Amino acid sequence: MVNLILFGPPGSGKGTQAKMLVEKYNFYHISTGDMFRYEMGNNTPLGLKAKEYIHAGNLVPDSLTIEMLKARVIANKDVYGFIFDGFPRTTPQADALDQLMNSMGQNVNKLIALDVDDNEIINRLQERAKVQGRADDANIETVQNRIDVYKKNTTPVFDYYAHFDKSTKIEGVGSIDDVFGRLCTEIDNL
Ligand code: AMP
Repeated sequence: MVNLILFGPPGSGKGTQAKMLVEKYNFYHISTGDMFRYEMGNNTPLGLKAKEYIHAGNLVPDSLTIEMLKARVIANKDVYGFIFDGFPRTTPQADALDQLMNSMGQNVNKLIALDVDDNEIINRLQERAKVQGRADDANIETVQNRIDVYKKNTTPVFDYYAHFDKSTKIEGVGSIDDVFGRLCTEIDNL
């Protein structure tokens, strides 16, 4: 089993690349952002709790996020490997993921960060807002807050896995196929 964390700021292309990696390597893709959007779309109790955080560009509390993630992993534990997209976003989430993987006799093999600068992120999110209509992409204050939260709360996760020599950074700018090629090189070297 190969388990990968696809890491990077909002709009860095994690979701697009994860879908392409699933086609090529047969990973099981878990996007906590997609899961929350599904819950919100269905007005479930979890969706209703998550909504205010997501609309403000803040992180949903760890307790809710970890519980949701764990249930999805446990329900799919026989897959070839997981791609985690948008999780972990805090070091307590990284701890919880490691514990969960260990309890299954597995581990996180690699964290690959897509490196994209702030201006490019803001441009991409504005474009995505037009196409996908996500409220958290359309509002510039929410976007700025998501970038700030990423820098403050989420970048420590890169260092957390760097400590175990598992973090790597690749250039996230260029064509989708170029970035995909860089990711495949990293995965093929595992
Ligand atoms: P994303 O689609 O990954 O950009 O996620 C959209 C929003 O969902 C984020 O801005 C957060 O509010 C929330 N979210 C997604 N994943 C997490 C996570 N791992 N921890 C906390 N909040 C999350």
